[in-house]
Amino acid sequence: MSEILQVKNLKKYYSVPSGTLHAVDDVSFTMNYGETLGIVGESGCGKSTLGKTLLRLIQPTSGEVIFEGQDITNVDQKGFTALRPKMQMIFQDPMSSLNPRFSISQQIAEPLKIYKVYKDKEQLNKRVLELMDTVGLARRYVETYPHELDGGRRQRIGIARALALNPKLIVCDEPVSALDVLIQAQILNLLQDLQKEHGLSYMFITHNLSVVKHISDNICVMYLGQVIEQCRTKELFTHTYHPYTKALLSAIPVPSLKDKRERVLLKGELTSPINPKNACRFAPRCLYAREQCHNSAPELVDLGNNHKCACHFVKEINGL
Ligand code: SF4
Repeated sequence: MSEILQVKNLKKYYSVPSGTLHAVDDVSFTMNYGETLGIVGESGCGKSTLGKTLLRLIQPTSGEVIFEGQDITNVDQKGFTALRPKMQMIFQDPMSSLNPRFSISQQIAEPLKIYKVYKDKEQLNKRVLELMDTVGLARRYVETYPHELDGGRRQRIGIARALALNPKLIVCDEPVSALDVLIQAQILNLLQDLQKEHGLSYMFITHNLSVVKHISDNICVMYLGQVIEQCRTKELFTHTYHPYTKALLSAIPVPSLKDKRERVLLKGELTSPINPKNACRFAPRCLYAREQCHNSAPELVDLGNNHKCACHFVKEINGL
């Protein structure tokens, strides 16, 4: 079995005073063991809700989540407590995910204590120090507190906590976006090294296409709760089909003037995710929109090479 995770037609809707908010709308994909799937899109596109729904931090409205061959969509709380060690999360803001009153050793020991992994305190302390070594956190910080450390070191604590129970899948929710560029690179390299060493699978959620280019094997581009383009990472950067993905790519800074692309500026209003009508949700901002785009929603279609795109006019726009 090469697939660690299969997600089928997953939906997460919320009732709000003005109707139903479609935060995640009919999302399907698979993830392979030991690979990284990048989930990319602007703020509010539903990518974080998707990650939390997979880990059942939020209950899905409908759809299926199959983890290691087991349908976990409707597993009860007790069943999910048993699964939790295998599925972990790294959060965007380590400061808000850490307990300010816990020392570093207490933060890292917490999941091990909850799951009663060690009876012996000495073994527990030894494991905490091992985890600090694994994530490159100097042992001298063991009795310090989160506010005494910089963002990069705090994120290393978040990673150590996520690794403590030997997970197989980690959802990384914008884990480097709050860090400066140099620290971002260090954390990304650490995540890649840990993946190789421990055979981890990552779902890497970000708004930054250049970050996913660096770390992902596959990419799903999301727009207003839906996947609009999906393929291998290399394929996306050589053949970009969807007008929205083209606009995202054009915004990536390039190191030399020779490679400079023309920036596609998105104009027009964002479609409301509340009671969206049967239409392409990108239509109000799309340069290529026509009448059909405003009256029917395009399906995600495989254009070959497992490259899927949701656009009525994808062949015409790309000369396929
Ligand atoms: Fe643009 Fe129409 Fe394609 Fe949507 S379906 S991306 S509006 S051309």
